Amino acid sequence: MLNAALAVWLEQHAEALNAGEADVSFALLQQLGQADVFRQGVPEQFGGLGNTLQDAIETIAQVAEYSVTAAFVSWSQRTYIEYLLTAKADVLDEFRFDALLSGEYAGATGLSNAMKFLSGLEPLQIQAEAVEGGWKLNGKLPWVTNFHPSGFTVAVAADSVQGPLLFLVPSNRAGFDRRPNLELIGLKGSSTAAATLTDVIVSQTELLSDKATQYLPAIRPAFLGLQCALAIGLIKRSVQQVIAKKHSRLVNDQVTYIQQQLEENLAVLFSGLESGKFVTQARSLFEIRIALSELTQHAIQLELCSTGGKCYLTPYEDGFTRRLKESAFIPIVTPSVLQLKTELSRLSA
Ligand SMILES: Cc1cc2nc3c(=O)[nH]c(=O)nc-3n(C[C@H](O)[C@H](O)[C@H](O)COP(=O)(O)OP(=O)(O)OC[C@H]3O[C@@H](n4cnc5c(N)ncnc54)[C@H](O)[C@@H]3O)c2cc1C
Repeated sequence: MLNAALAVWLEQHAEALNAGEADVSFALLQQLGQADVFRQGVPEQFGGLGNTLQDAIETIAQVAEYSVTAAFVSWSQRTYIEYLLTAKADVLDEFRFDALLSGEYAGATGLSNAMKFLSGLEPLQIQAEAVEGGWKLNGKLPWVTNFHPSGFTVAVAADSVQGPLLFLVPSNRAGFDRRPNLELIGLKGSSTAAATLTDVIVSQTELLSDKATQYLPAIRPAFLGLQCALAIGLIKRSVQQVIAKKHSRLVNDQVTYIQQQLEENLAVLFSGLESGKFVTQARSLFEIRIALSELTQHAIQLELCSTGGKCYLTPYEDGFTRRLKESAFIPIVTPSVLQLKTELSRLSA
C-alpha cells in the first residue's frame, strides 16, 4: 500500500508537478523518500525493506496512478539505486546510499544512449580517456531526468579504447555543466535537462562497469520492469475513472478486457523477473513493454470516449488532460515502442 500521506500530497500536487512549479518539484524527491518509495526491493542490510523488485514496481505504479512525473522521478532514483546494488557494498557510503534511500540526494540514469547503442541505434555520446587514477570524460547527455537542482550523481555510458564503459558522475565535479530544464509539454517537474561534460575527471571507484555490453543486458530487466510501472499506474487510474461512472455494457466489456490483459501481462512480467529469465530471453520482456504501452493508449481513449465532452471542459476534466500528456510519454521513453518492435522483427527474421 502506498503511504497515505504521500497519496494525499500527490493528489494535491499532481497538476503542479506536471506544470513544473518550482517549490513542489523541488520537494518531490524528499516526499517520495520519506514514504519509503526508494527502499522497496532493497535488501534490509543496505537499509531497504527487504522485499522484492515486484514490490518496487507495484509501489511506483501506485505513484503513477496520481502523477507520472512523480513516478518517473521514482523510476530514475530507484533504477540508479539498482545500479549501486550491483557495485561493491564497501563503496555505498561514498555514493551516499542512505541519502539516496531517504530522497535527500538524487540519482539519475543517463543510459538511454547506452540502451540505444546496445541495439545498434546510435553511437555513444561521451568519450572516456584513461588518466592517472581514473578517467577523463567529454561529451553530452541530451536528456536526463532527476537532475535535482541541489545536486545529483548520474550514470552514463562512455566510449573508450577498451570499449564501452559505465560511470557514476557527480554533478558538482569541475567541467559538469547542467543546462536549464528542457521545455517539455508535460512532466515538467521531473527536473529533466541536458548536460555537457568537459574534461570531467572520475575516479576508478566511479567506474560502474568496464564491461558495459554485458552489464546492460543484465540490468535491463530491472530498468525496463521499473519503467513498466508508469504504464501500469496510468492504466489503473484511467480504468478507475471509467468505473466511477455508470456505463453501457460495451464500455464495461472494454474495462474487463483491459483489466484481464493487464493481469496477464503482470503475471508474465513478475514471474520472468523473479526467475531471471529476461536476462537471456529479452523478447517476452519487450512484448510486455509494448503491450502495456498499447493498453495505456486503450485505457486513456476509453476514459475519453466514455466520459465524452466533459473531458474537453476544464471544470470537469478531472485530470484527463494531464493523463493524456503523461500517456504520450509511455511509447517514447527509451527503449521506445518503435525501437522494441524493430528489435522483435529483427529477432524473428
Ligand atoms: C520527459 C523525458 C524524460 C527523459 N528522461 C531520460 C532519462 O532520465 N535518461 C535518459 O537517458 N533519457 C531520457 N529521455 C530520453 C528518451 O528516453 C529518448 O532517448 C529521447 O526521447 C530521444 O530519443 P528518441 O529515441 O525518441 O529519438 P530518435 O533517435 O530521434 O528516434 C525517434 C524514434 O525512432 C526510433 N528509432 C530511432 N532509430 C531507430 C532505428 N534505427 N530503428 C528503429 N527505430 C528507431 C526511436 O526509438 C524513437 O521511437 C527522456 C525523454 C523525455 C521526453
